[in-house]
Amino acid sequence: MREYDAIFIGAGQAGPFLAARMAAMGRKVVLIERKFLGGTCVNAGCMPTKALVASAKTAEVARRAAEYGVKLSGPPTVDMAAVAARARKVTLDARSGLASWFDSLETMDVVYGHSKFIATKTVAVDGKRYTAPQIFINVGARPQIPDVPGLVDVPYLTSTSIIALEELPRHLVILGGSYIGLEFAQMYRRFGAEVTVIERGQHLASREDTDISEAIADILSKDGINLFRDHKLISVAKDGAGIVVRTDKGDVYGSHVLVAVGRQPNTDDLGLEFAGVETDRRGFIPVDERLQTNVEGIWALGDCNGRGAFTHTSYNDFEIVAASLLDGGDRKLSDRILGYGLYIDPPLGRVGMTEQQARDAGHRIKVSTRPMSRVGRAVEKGETQGLMKLVADAETDRVLGAAFLGVGGDEAVYGVLEAMNLDSTTEKLRWAMPIHPTVGELVPTLIGDLKEA
Ligand SMILES: Cc1cc2nc3c(=O)[nH]c(=O)nc-3n(C[C@H](O)[C@H](O)[C@H](O)COP(=O)(O)OP(=O)(O)OC[C@H]3O[C@@H](n4cnc5c(N)ncnc54)[C@H](O)[C@@H]3O)c2cc1C
Repeated sequence: MREYDAIFIGAGQAGPFLAARMAAMGRKVVLIERKFLGGTCVNAGCMPTKALVASAKTAEVARRAAEYGVKLSGPPTVDMAAVAARARKVTLDARSGLASWFDSLETMDVVYGHSKFIATKTVAVDGKRYTAPQIFINVGARPQIPDVPGLVDVPYLTSTSIIALEELPRHLVILGGSYIGLEFAQMYRRFGAEVTVIERGQHLASREDTDISEAIADILSKDGINLFRDHKLISVAKDGAGIVVRTDKGDVYGSHVLVAVGRQPNTDDLGLEFAGVETDRRGFIPVDERLQTNVEGIWALGDCNGRGAFTHTSYNDFEIVAASLLDGGDRKLSDRILGYGLYIDPPLGRVGMTEQQARDAGHRIKVSTRPMSRVGRAVEKGETQGLMKLVADAETDRVLGAAFLGVGGDEAVYGVLEAMNLDSTTEKLRWAMPIHPTVGELVPTLIGDLKEA
């Protein structure tokens, strides 16, 4: 039995940072990872996908070069092996950066292997046992595979396996029209594939307001992506060298199928029952305001607790636990204001509530929208698709949320996020002098245009 001060299961975006903090304080910690340091974000999520999005954007800019007065000698071509290699390098550099950092921490051991609880404060990895008074679960999530007849009999792709693809699919059929599916849809379309998205709901990215969701659909349709909404999957089968996806409204024939219908937590093979740690019916581990599970001394951080599905929410989990356990602070889950991006092009930057969420929560609201075609910076860049939207509380004079779907929207929305975190009134925000020309300079204008809705 190896004894430690703390055990960390999974090297995602929360545990390793806490482990490193504790190791820097001289505590003896062990980080157990069954695959790669950095978890999903570094190896199969944010980093490689955003590298691929950058390649896809470059292809699009090259295709549109003549619009900007730049002449190419012929249409651009995409070298998929080079595209994949570039994304791989981004991942490998980040992963090896983490490895050298952890190597430099004297009281931190890194163990590779699948770990399972065998008792409340004990886990086993490859027959070796580790015990500690504090255990931090940071095991993340994996692509969910829906129970569609025939799917498991075809060579389907997931968001993990498609990253390594070095060939261009002739026709990529994507099951699921939410964030991950849409990013892959646009990038593969821009690499040159025919792309069809099959979504069972009425709207893409259905968490968003309908006007934002429709604007996203408009952007993707203009890129030439086939969008089939309100289509129920019936079955998937091989069809010669390709596949056929059968839906209630007709069949779609493709060369490759990508499954992107959601993610499920990696908690089913963790032996949680031996530790007495509870999960909900979807497998997420319920936690309190400071991320502790129902068992004292065991915490669940990141995607596996169901309280966030992003790198920054996972990292924020680390910050909350570090504040309460190491720094004598008092941060908690309910303090955080959620923001996130959808990295299609142009991107969507989102913070706080949608208009619908604000209504459902009973706020009396004011709303303001502005098409990107009326944003100077977007016009100058020749990228005028999308819209900016702001939702405020008519009674408290505070911003409740924003959705900036447009060029630079992922960065510009930051101003609103900061204002919300600082609890600024809209009046104060309105009079802050912006920088010209930026997308963010329209925030005071949006505030001035707020109307009760
Ligand atoms: C395609 C894609 C794109 C994404 N893009 C973005 C984005 O742009 N922005 C953003 O904020 N988020 C994005 N995400 C989500 C983001 O990657 C995750 O939210 C983030 O990685 C946080 O994960 P985590 O810390 O919970 O754990 P993870 O990063 O998932 O890491 C968990 C680790 O635990 C290990 N593990 C699991 N079980 C065990 C076990 N029993 N024993 C030992 N080790 C184990 C796994 O191998 C893994 O390395 C994306 C995700 C995907 C799939």
